[in-house]
Amino acid sequence: MFKSDRRMPSRCGGPYHIVNLFAIGYNFPMKCYLCPRNCGADRDKGERGFCMAPALPVVARAAAHYWEEPCISGTRGSGAVFFSGCNMRCAYCQNREISAFIKGRETDASELRDIFLRLRDTGVHNINLVTPTPYIDTIAAALKDPIGIPVVYNCGGYEKTESLKRLEGLIDIYLPDVKYAHGDYFAHASAAAAEMFRQTGKYVVDGDGIMKRGVIVRHLVLPGQLDNSKDVLEYFAESFERGSVMLSLMSQYTPNGFGGPERRLTGEEYREVVDYMYMLGIRDGYVQEPDSSCGDYVPAFDLTGVLTDEH
Ligand code: SF4
Repeated sequence: MFKSDRRMPSRCGGPYHIVNLFAIGYNFPMKCYLCPRNCGADRDKGERGFCMAPALPVVARAAAHYWEEPCISGTRGSGAVFFSGCNMRCAYCQNREISAFIKGRETDASELRDIFLRLRDTGVHNINLVTPTPYIDTIAAALKDPIGIPVVYNCGGYEKTESLKRLEGLIDIYLPDVKYAHGDYFAHASAAAAEMFRQTGKYVVDGDGIMKRGVIVRHLVLPGQLDNSKDVLEYFAESFERGSVMLSLMSQYTPNGFGGPERRLTGEEYREVVDYMYMLGIRDGYVQEPDSSCGDYVPAFDLTGVLTDEH
């Protein structure tokens, strides 16, 4: 038992000195439980969990992106910072090159902040963190001081609320997917969306149509899975009152040959889901053209905006 005089005898007779390990900067093993996968990987020691992410953020591209929702992309683009590694790794992912593989440059909080600031200075409307989940703590450190434009957290929805709480006050706009209306994924994604809304409150769009705060829930309609989409829409309608959270109902599913449905969504399928959305009274947000499937939404993961002359 520890004694109150902060000294205790060792078995060989010498004293132990009890010291505050936090105060002297001892490097505790940091096993990763950031997301619902709960891998317990010691990423500081080189172990990789499901997301395959190393300890520090790996960035594959940081540049203006024009394919987000109009209130995010605006006229000058969204400053998209693409992180490598993903805790979802959907077979049909558009960004498979960086979600199934780790590709890019490893950065610390200081370098990451420099990337954000350089991108901000190009005139983009916001800094858009794409697939940031495995790197929450380094991102929080990089955003410790405000960067002057809104920060968007753009994720697959499979988040832990306690991890999101570490970002409170640092993120202005959350852009989560709610992909499926069932199982463990839905339990976490719905709780995460509620936490995101708690942090941001109702969405705010300025006079130029640019979003400043709030949440946009994204849902990609999958071919042949209309019941799942309708269940997601019912969840959304029951959870968020009109004027509070936006919905982005997407039709752009594109088969990639690595899994998932092997055909595109038909216009008829998409219209059925859009009709259901209107029937439920959902009016805030976006729909796409019935057939928006296209590989053009995927940029080159070629370190644009990540490397400088110094690197
Ligand atoms: S962030 Fe990655 S390593 Fe950590 S629990 Fe999630 S999947 Fe596992």
